[in-house]
Amino acid sequence: MAQVTPREVLLNTALIRGLADQAKDAALLHGVLMRTEECPNSSEVMTYAPFTLFPTPVPSDVFHQALEVQTHFNVLVDRISQDPVFLEDALASTIKSDDFTGKLFNIYRQILKEGQSQSIVLGLNRSDYMLDQREDGSSALKQIEINTIAASFGGLASKTPTVHRHVLQVAGLLEQSQRILDNNPAAGLGRGLAKAWELYGSERAVVMFLVEDVQRNILDHRYVENELWRRNITTIRRRFDDLSETMSLDKDNRLFVNDQEVAVVYFRNGYMPQNYSSEQSWETRLTMERSLAVKCPDISTHLAGTKKVQQELARPGVLEKFFPDQPQVVEQIRATFTGLYTLDMGPEGDQSVKMALANPDRFVLKPQREGGGNNIYGSEICRVLEGVRGSVERSAYILMDKIQPQPVHNYLLRRDASLQLSMCLSELGVFGAYVRQGGDMVMNECVGHLLRTKSSEYADGGVAAGVAVLDNPLLV
Ligand code: ADP
Ligand code: MG
Repeated sequence: MAQVTPREVLLNTALIRGLADQAKDAALLHGVLMRTEECPNSSEVMTYAPFTLFPTPVPSDVFHQALEVQTHFNVLVDRISQDPVFLEDALASTIKSDDFTGKLFNIYRQILKEGQSQSIVLGLNRSDYMLDQREDGSSALKQIEINTIAASFGGLASKTPTVHRHVLQVAGLLEQSQRILDNNPAAGLGRGLAKAWELYGSERAVVMFLVEDVQRNILDHRYVENELWRRNITTIRRRFDDLSETMSLDKDNRLFVNDQEVAVVYFRNGYMPQNYSSEQSWETRLTMERSLAVKCPDISTHLAGTKKVQQELARPGVLEKFFPDQPQVVEQIRATFTGLYTLDMGPEGDQSVKMALANPDRFVLKPQREGGGNNIYGSEICRVLEGVRGSVERSAYILMDKIQPQPVHNYLLRRDASLQLSMCLSELGVFGAYVRQGGDMVMNECVGHLLRTKSSEYADGGVAAGVAVLDNPLLV
């Protein structure tokens, strides 16, 4: 086939239809899979996980900037998790106004009082960014948030490069096809889990994935599980409800599920209020935190990933406190921060409210929630802030500058959706994995990336929420 330009391809309808069909087959062939909405807990029927037809151009310098800062974010999260004074101060107002964060914090306090039984810490996180468009046309890497619990799509992201390479090859874009990077977060996440399991030091003990009630994205987990099975490490999957009757601690605080000792609990659930459907689920979380099992994350690392902590980190002098002798590290991390503003009661919070009301389209209002679809934008910001501005309720939120990426044309492939050219925005995620034993960091790595893309019509919402789709960066 003659060499064609990307633009010609993008507008050639017949070619696009053929490519989309081939792309979907490639996704099935290479295991970019999800269960269906109608049968979310059965693998009898599977479909492709939604993805873009084409990879999205990402400037090479900002991409590498994101990879390079990741091990510093790992250390930062880990240090925050070991600083009760900081966590207590940072979250003091939030835990009074946000019941969910308050409940997590109660567990944290309880564990602080009793003392942690396990000194091995495993962190598997994902730092998410958008590229803010500067006036001179260049783009700046700006952090959206860091996910310290249940960061997903490391499995499927390991399989999407092959799919995009194939699509570009079929489209005659050979040179581009060769520029799609290898990516294997599943291997790195698996390595972290395996390291924690090994340090725990019991051959017979298992790794337990704590999973959701609805498990459409099970294949994403399976890729990580597979990394453990191939090392002869047994993994089990349990929901909160499965554990109320079967989980126990022995006299040394070792965690058992029926008769199986658990070396590592990997939370792929437990980050939203609705994940804790009863008091029993909260009890189960507390029991796991008390146990000798390595928790990924432990309660303090979970709290280190809250949006309120993110906002407190952006205050002058705070990063310096976590990296006292490393001004370059501070600079590298801070370069990724956009404006973040407190809404706590007091003159500073009053100022933030005023600023947001005067210019709502410049900001995002964020509650302490995860999982997509919770943030507040535009005129809705005014409505919410008008309602809470005079009360402590407002400290359940933080205010953040809205990042404005350059929209790019692409086709979003999603089951039963019509094929149409969309204006899209992308979000780059970088996976971090670390293991600490007492005072020693025994592993600290950047283990891969994830690009997700959504139609610019939507302000918010992830892949699981049915808004964003999987993508790959094409470095330019
Ligand atoms: P969640 O924990 O629900 O994933 P996020 O902070 O990641 O919360 O926000 C969800 C989505 O909202 C992001 O994926 C992004 O699309 C959008 N978003 C969040 N913060 C900003 C921001 N500061 N500027 C622009 N878009 C944002
Ligand atoms: Mg997010």
